[in-house]
Amino acid sequence: MRIFDPHIHMTSRTTDDYQRMHEAGVRAVVEPAFWLGQPRTNMGSFLDYFDALLGWEPYRAAQYGIRHHCALALNPKEANDRRCAEVLAELPRYLLKDAVVAVGEVGYDSVTPEEERAFEAQLAMAGESDLPVLVHTPHRDKVAGTRRSLDVVKAAGMPPERVLVDHLNEPTVGMVADSGCWMGFSIYPDTKMDPGRMVAILREYGTARMLVNSAADWGRSDPLKTREVGDAMLAAGFGQDDVDQVLWHNPVAFYGQSGRLDLRTGSAGLDYAGNTIKRG
Ligand SMILES: [Zn+2]
Repeated sequence: MRIFDPHIHMTSRTTDDYQRMHEAGVRAVVEPAFWLGQPRTNMGSFLDYFDALLGWEPYRAAQYGIRHHCALALNPKEANDRRCAEVLAELPRYLLKDAVVAVGEVGYDSVTPEEERAFEAQLAMAGESDLPVLVHTPHRDKVAGTRRSLDVVKAAGMPPERVLVDHLNEPTVGMVADSGCWMGFSIYPDTKMDPGRMVAILREYGTARMLVNSAADWGRSDPLKTREVGDAMLAAGFGQDDVDQVLWHNPVAFYGQSGRLDLRTGSAGLDYAGNTIKRG
């Protein structure tokens, strides 16, 4: 089973995780910009973080046979930071980098006016940079927050096929399916979705435009949840091709819209999808 985790915060994880992920079949990840867990005290903290997602983390991942790309943004949680405008002014030059395959995560956390302004500004940047967008949906009042996020995306004129709306569950999947946006599901050990509920959603809504992630970070989370979903799909009667679509082809198709997704590697004659690299 080959796995592309489309949303994981590897900065918060150990090298043991990289090793276990590779053993489970993970060959590619996208790491969206996240918050520290505590407020940043200066502007350089944001920029050092962006630079680490572009430099150090891909290097670390490659040592374990995993291809690493990132999505950059001012995270919704940090959109309320007083340095918001400064970060947004720096962001466009970062979005030019080759390893950036989306703007994200953006959206609402506490649904404040500051968050809305940062969300709209970054949707505009995605349009200008020709990048797809990863939209985080709030954990509280999720139905209203998701509805409002879809409205903001639509008002910004973003084509729905370039938008991934993440952290969905049973009450929010339907409206995103109807919108034409891609649907993301974070599988956590005890909150949000679990593999059984995920399989039920795939049965009801099908496998098109569906992405499954571990969203693993510094909180209670598990980077192998993507593999658990793949196993649960097979146990429930889905075929290998269905699993490959959800866990590999869908994230490749979504982030491939950036024109920057690069799954080749020079070593061992294999690319990250497990295919032999053709020479000449
Ligand atoms: Zn996240």
